[in-house]
Amino acid sequence: MLRKFAPKKKVRSIFALDLKALRAAGIKGIITDLDNTLVKTREKLADEQVAAWFRSLQDEGFQVVIVSNNTRRRVGGFSVPLNIPFVHGARKPTSSGFRKALALLGLEARETAVIGDQLLTDVLGGNLLGMYTILVEPCSPEGEKWVTRINRSIEKVVVKRMRKKGIFPREDA
Ligand SMILES: [Mg+2]
Repeated sequence: MLRKFAPKKKVRSIFALDLKALRAAGIKGIITDLDNTLVKTREKLADEQVAAWFRSLQDEGFQVVIVSNNTRRRVGGFSVPLNIPFVHGARKPTSSGFRKALALLGLEARETAVIGDQLLTDVLGGNLLGMYTILVEPCSPEGEKWVTRINRSIEKVVVKRMRKKGIFPREDA
């Protein structure tokens, strides 16, 4: 069971991801979380660095969808100006939102990477469908909902156990 929480990769932030290596691993599509993965929870819009990152994904040939448990107002408000498709109210870690995203991408789970800052939603959900999971460090803990704060404390225990078993990936340089 513990293995279901283990990301395939761990990076400091989305900007540290090696996109060429990801393509070489057979990944064609990217499902990314929004809050604390792309920007802080209180940032309504992408900054220039994040917008440039989305352009680099598309230049590299990736298809992209933003998948979030947050509301239509929040997720749409962020995604529409970037012209990136989105799924809101995704209920991660359940499969429903991820399946919608795969349909939007027109890709199989094994060709798709999930990027997120939470083990209990993004990584677990992606692993359950057999996707390539990438954990990033949260942009900032400020403004997180109580559910997320509880998840973070569970995460700490889970990471500790995974490290002990040697199944938690080392961070990419
Ligand atoms: Mg998040």
